[in-house]
Amino acid sequence: MTQKARLLSGDTSTGRLHLGHWVGSVENRVHMQDEYDCYFLIANIQALTTRLDRPKEVHDNVMQVMLDYLAVGIDPKKSTIFVQSELPALAELTVFFSLLVSYPRLMRNPTIKDEIRDKGLGDNYSVGFLLYPISQAADILAFRTEVVPVGEDQIPHLELTREIARRFNQVFCQVDAHIDDADYVKQGGLFPIPQVKLGRSRRLVGIGAPAEDGSLFKMSKSLNNAIFLSDDPDTIKKKVMAMYTDPHRLKATDKGKVENNPLWIFHETFNPDRTWVAEAEERYRNGAIGDVECKKRLIDVLVALIEPMRERRLLYENDLAEVQMILREGTAKANAEANQTLVSVKEAMKQRYF
Ligand code: ATP
Ligand code: MG
Repeated sequence: MTQKARLLSGDTSTGRLHLGHWVGSVENRVHMQDEYDCYFLIANIQALTTRLDRPKEVHDNVMQVMLDYLAVGIDPKKSTIFVQSELPALAELTVFFSLLVSYPRLMRNPTIKDEIRDKGLGDNYSVGFLLYPISQAADILAFRTEVVPVGEDQIPHLELTREIARRFNQVFCQVDAHIDDADYVKQGGLFPIPQVKLGRSRRLVGIGAPAEDGSLFKMSKSLNNAIFLSDDPDTIKKKVMAMYTDPHRLKATDKGKVENNPLWIFHETFNPDRTWVAEAEERYRNGAIGDVECKKRLIDVLVALIEPMRERRLLYENDLAEVQMILREGTAKANAEANQTLVSVKEAMKQRYF
């Protein structure tokens, strides 16, 4: 029997999962569970890089993300779910991999720059924050992962991971630098060069107003602009009714702008009735349909998607001991796997002494 290829992805424990996670990454993970050997990491250390003042919140959100995973259909019989800080090998790998990355290379990362700006970190970010893309490379490579389903903001991090994997294989496994990415393991490399698998929406926008330059923020746990996969119908209704649309349209009969308008981005992303969306967009452009009617449609679409998830979540919320056990067992399995990779890394680096 041939072994299934490895897939790894994860989320920071900074809050519950939202619609951006679903279309950016989680939907793919659910659908790829049979085809791949899947590992899902809850990144609590990464959460601390921006929440050091709220450790209890970071702790409690591990369980919230875990509940979300089970609610959306990640099946613990098929996939392994684990907590980052319980795997010491990941910290050791981070240190070894940090030696392969120059400081200017680390700073040349657009996602890090966006996060510093959008999360208002100013000059107060820690060395640990800057290090998190390397720690993420350790998370991925520890499982000799081949596929990583993520949203667009992760592309620069994955590029760094791929560079680290190539360099490690070249420097310590004597793989020729001129071969194709697909051939590294065949040529004696320890790490496959992982591929990015983007979701059907690479960067879902939030429901709030745009930035000063008119660009829309991404939906994010940290920016207070999210619809969560655990929101009840009433909350979804309130959020959609208050969501940002075209501010120049004061009456339903005014011509409306469809482009860069969250209302239509959401319909295009989530509404399966493509014909209605195309027709309604045209009517919106001509001032022949009101915001309220379009928002009501969107509420129905989102409730239909989220309600089954919320119901499954409630079942697990009533059995937290079971959820805790799934996490404990997943973490033990992940630990064994990461420890094995660490041994291979030390051997390749000629640093295995005992
Ligand atoms: P935080 O605000 O704390 O950074 P987040 O909402 O950005 O949280 P993460 O845990 O950083 O969520 O991201 C987890 C995964 O979900 C990543 O693969 C990321 O690319 C994806 N993702 C997050 N937000 C979106 C979005 N709005 N659209 C598409 N993908 C997203
Ligand atoms: Mg993020």
